[in-house]
Amino acid sequence: MKTNFNILGPLLLLLVLPFMGFSQQLHTKEAPLPCLNKTFSIYAYIVIDSLHKVDVEKRKRAIVRAFETVNTYFAPICVRFEVCEFDTVPNYQYFHMYKVADSLWDELTVKYHHNRRINMYFTGSFRKDPIGGFSAGGIAVDDGGICIVGPSAGTITHELGHYFGLKHTFDKSKGLELVDGSNCKTTGDEICDTPADPYYGSDPPIQWVDDKCRFIYQERDANGDYYRPDVGNIMSYYGCACGFTRGQYIKMANSWLNSSRTKW
Ligand SMILES: [Zn+2]
Repeated sequence: MKTNFNILGPLLLLLVLPFMGFSQQLHTKEAPLPCLNKTFSIYAYIVIDSLHKVDVEKRKRAIVRAFETVNTYFAPICVRFEVCEFDTVPNYQYFHMYKVADSLWDELTVKYHHNRRINMYFTGSFRKDPIGGFSAGGIAVDDGGICIVGPSAGTITHELGHYFGLKHTFDKSKGLELVDGSNCKTTGDEICDTPADPYYGSDPPIQWVDDKCRFIYQERDANGDYYRPDVGNIMSYYGCACGFTRGQYIKMANSWLNSSRTKW
């Protein structure tokens, strides 16, 4: 027995050492992510429905709990969010928002907005789209805010992603990103480590991913390449959310660092 160990010891070391060297090399290839070392204050508004069915205290607890998860997503760039104040909006016409950032939203934010905070309004539903929320303005300006239907950590993280300058992975406003990534800087979400995502915002995700979050869409891009989007990206719509990419973290950090609001 003793002899066997003596032979196996050096052999195992030899096997392990090349891997250690390899992983170290990979690690030093990429510079560390920027660390903002910043806690942002959230001003949370709970909009009341006409029948007063919203349990304000219960909703407050759910919001605080959701932010515990949200904070884990932002920890890699040393960003935290703290709900510093709660307020209720007793006007139930804002409970069912109509459209994204319309006149109703303008009215709500003019009435309730607080400067130097991230203003977040928790409402009931949207009359027009079955969406979970939207973000208006952003971290670089002081008049924006975020509207959230129900306090889900995934939705809050997604909307904060927008608030910190991220687009959807399937954004097509600047043109279609190719699967080979050759035009990734100027098309799609303009971030190169998020693969091309062909999704159309109005489609039910079930037509694009199966119940195990496998991508099932079969169309190909202009080069004839099959799409392989990151269905777990928090800025996608596939509902398989698990995180941001390195490129997205850098973009979010820079949105703050390059803004004139760094004295918040
Ligand atoms: Zn979105």
